[in-house]
Amino acid sequence: AVCGSAAHAAWFERTEDGIMGTRIAVDLWADDKALADLALDRVFNEMRRIDQSMSTYKPDSEVSRVNAAAAQAPVVISPELFDLLATAVEYSRITDGAFDITYASVGFMYDFRSRIKPTDKAIAAALPAVNYRFLELDKGRRTIRFARPGVRIDLGGIAKGHAVDRGIAILQGLKIEHASVTAGGDTRIIGDRKGAPWVVGIRHPDDKTKVIARIPLVDTAISTSGDYERYFDENGVRYHHIIDPASGHSASKVRSATILANTATRTDGLSKTAFVLGAEKAIEIYDRLGDVDAILVTPEGKVLYTKGLEAP
Ligand code: ADP
Ligand code: MG
Repeated sequence: AVCGSAAHAAWFERTEDGIMGTRIAVDLWADDKALADLALDRVFNEMRRIDQSMSTYKPDSEVSRVNAAAAQAPVVISPELFDLLATAVEYSRITDGAFDITYASVGFMYDFRSRIKPTDKAIAAALPAVNYRFLELDKGRRTIRFARPGVRIDLGGIAKGHAVDRGIAILQGLKIEHASVTAGGDTRIIGDRKGAPWVVGIRHPDDKTKVIARIPLVDTAISTSGDYERYFDENGVRYHHIIDPASGHSASKVRSATILANTATRTDGLSKTAFVLGAEKAIEIYDRLGDVDAILVTPEGKVLYTKGLEAP
């Protein structure tokens, strides 16, 4: 609860729906209300700024500008977008192409809210443009170019993590030592909850009132992706928002994936892997990376963990 009077250290929280198409929640411990308000204003403004520049729903966003022009000629972009695109390509390499922001070359034809999906013919026609290798990044000129027509990018699988990390950086700059910043399924935590860990629950894929695991957390980032977030069911098939770059269809090798690592950009970017590659292959990748842990729920309802989380 918000209980900070003028000059008392206390918890302060703010929640807002609709930025980046999701719910943003910030919870922080501050010495007084003035500092808390300043911190919350700055974090929410930052979220709005990032939404403005990275949304594909806004025709004047920087990403929309890239999508409109980068197949014709290199487009000069901001250092922030350049770095995030370079990170996205790194995650594509790490995940054998399971994470691929060019999924949007097909993905733009889905509208889960309106129960719209592309025909097999439309998918086949657009699929050749899905491949992160078509993203030509020139660090010196700070440009991006698409190597062929039909390529589109969408940062829906990494921008919220990035926004959460930016929010945390703002709080750290204000010397706030206990806080949690969440954008949809992406959360990062600094410090503990004053004497106790933060506790994050992972929901059951088919029942949002049921929790399959509760994880105590201090100083970490956590992201959960699920096939129950944005979807529709038709003739017994679930069409949902995580797309297999190889097929252009929804990727359904797990029901949910929760990733733990140091930054939310990383946990967000890596939370799609198991849907595309399957639990075993994904766990192999996470264990090899060393700084990443995961909790995966398989289609049969089995819960699988990486090495770092296994019971001793
Ligand atoms: P949320 O949007 O709730 O944070 P996720 O973190 O699970 O959910 O990200 C899902 C989003 O990632 C999709 O809505 C889409 O924008 C994007 N996406 C879907 N498939 C891929 C993919 N194979 N690689 C990269 N991004 C993807
Ligand atoms: Mg996410």
